[in-house]
Amino acid sequence: MMAEEKFQLLVVSDLDGTLLDHHDYSFEEVLPVLDRLDENGIPLVINTSKTRAEWLAMRGQFGNLDPFVVENGSAIYDGNEVQVFGLPRAEILEKLKPLRGLYKYQGYSDVSLTEIMEWTGLGRQEAERSADRHFSEPLMWQDTAEREEEFCQKIEERGLMTLRGGRFLHVLGKTDKGKPLEHLREDKVAIIALGDRQNDLAMLEAADIGVVIATDDDFFLEADDVLRSSESGPRGWAQMMTKILDQLNIPPRQLDHG
Ligand SMILES: [Mg+2]
Repeated sequence: MMAEEKFQLLVVSDLDGTLLDHHDYSFEEVLPVLDRLDENGIPLVINTSKTRAEWLAMRGQFGNLDPFVVENGSAIYDGNEVQVFGLPRAEILEKLKPLRGLYKYQGYSDVSLTEIMEWTGLGRQEAERSADRHFSEPLMWQDTAEREEEFCQKIEERGLMTLRGGRFLHVLGKTDKGKPLEHLREDKVAIIALGDRQNDLAMLEAADIGVVIATDDDFFLEADDVLRSSESGPRGWAQMMTKILDQLNIPPRQLDHG
C-alpha cells in the first residue's frame, strides 16, 4: 500500500473458534477491539457457517449492524437486501436423496431438535435458530473417513459441495466464504479476514490480510501468506487485530465504556 493512499478498511471474520470461543462461546476479549473498529468507522462483516437467525439473535451483544454472510458463503444480508451465492436448502435435500441409503450419516433434517441440542451443546432456542437453515445441510458423519471422501466426490457430481466445519460436514451450493468478498470489495477497500478452519481458507485467500487464528487442538490450517496468532479463539483475534490496527496507525480506543 502506498503511504499517501487512503484505504477504507473492512474486517471480515469467522465466528466459531475465531471471534467466539469454540467451547463456551465467550467473546469478552474482543469487545475493546470492536469498540476501536467502531470509533474508526471500520465495518466488521461476520462470515459464518451459522444461520441468519443465529446471528440476528447474537449481534446485539456485539453492537454490530453491519452486513453479514451466513451458511458458509451462501448469502450476504445487508439491511433488507439479500444476495444469494449458494442454493436453496430444499434443492440440496432433494439432491441428497439418492445418497441417503448408501452412507452412514445424519443431517439436521433427519433428527429431532433434542438431537441437534446434543450435537451442538446449544439450548432449545439456540438449536431452533441453528436449524433455521436456508442454504445448507449440516451432516454428522458416522461412516469411515475413506467413505467420506467418496461421498464428497458424489456430492460434487451433483452440483453441490461439502465443507468440513468445526463439528459438521456441511453440504451446500457451489460457494465458499471467499465469494462474498468479491461482492464486498470496492475501490480502495482493504480487507482483513480472520478464521481458524478449512472452511475459512477461501476467505483468507480472498482478503488483503489473512489471519489464521490458532486452535486449541492439533489442527493446523495450511495457508500461504497469512499471519498467525499464537493464542486461540477470541484471545487470538484480539491479539492479532490489535497488532494489525497498531501497524496501520489506526487510533486506539478513546472512550471508556466501563
Ligand atoms: Mg471457525
